Amino acid sequence: MEITCLTVGDLSTNCYLLTDEDTNESLIIDPGDEGDFISTTILEKRVKPKAIVFTHGHYDHCLAALELKLNFNIPIYIHPEDLFLYKKSHLSAKHFSHISIPKPPPADHFLTDNDILTFGHSQVKVLHTPGHTPGSICLFSPGTLFSGDTLFAEGIGRTDLSYSSLSDLKKSLQKISKLPTNTTIYPGHGNLSLLTNTLSYSVV
Ligand SMILES: [Zn+2]
Ligand SMILES: [Zn+2]
Repeated sequence: MEITCLTVGDLSTNCYLLTDEDTNESLIIDPGDEGDFISTTILEKRVKPKAIVFTHGHYDHCLAALELKLNFNIPIYIHPEDLFLYKKSHLSAKHFSHISIPKPPPADHFLTDNDILTFGHSQVKVLHTPGHTPGSICLFSPGTLFSGDTLFAEGIGRTDLSYSSLSDLKKSLQKISKLPTNTTIYPGHGNLSLLTNTLSYSVV
């Protein structure tokens, strides 16, 4: 599996393009903005996007959803408990970042814990990791965890929002801490890190 990180938007969100090297089929994780840049990269790399997957529904992770949906006609996957955030992502973008975009396209599939997403001969497993938002997920494949805003190199995601839960996030971190210690964390923002004792992290 080849991993391409595209850092996009005002909040420097990491969009990941995961590509199965045998078939060139790929997943787009968190297309947070700059749909043109993401689309051009897909075309230049000659990969075949199969799906858009959101780690959670915050607008800085999904602003390019409509553009990619229209360009590639591929299904959108999200955890149902974050649908309320995804559906109002255009309003949040206006409110917090003064960005005007159309409504996001409808989600096509709902993710549940332990779902397996297959693209070509590659797979990632869905881990429901609520806390930062109720429908936050991580995606795991051996050696690799895409952690969204649940876990960063410097700490854990914010839980001061009305729908966040620090106690849920702690339980999610316990779940993550059971993964092998050689797992590389690919976060929603910032640098990669190696999985260590997640329970010692502080909120950033
Ligand atoms: Zn977030
Ligand atoms: Zn974010």
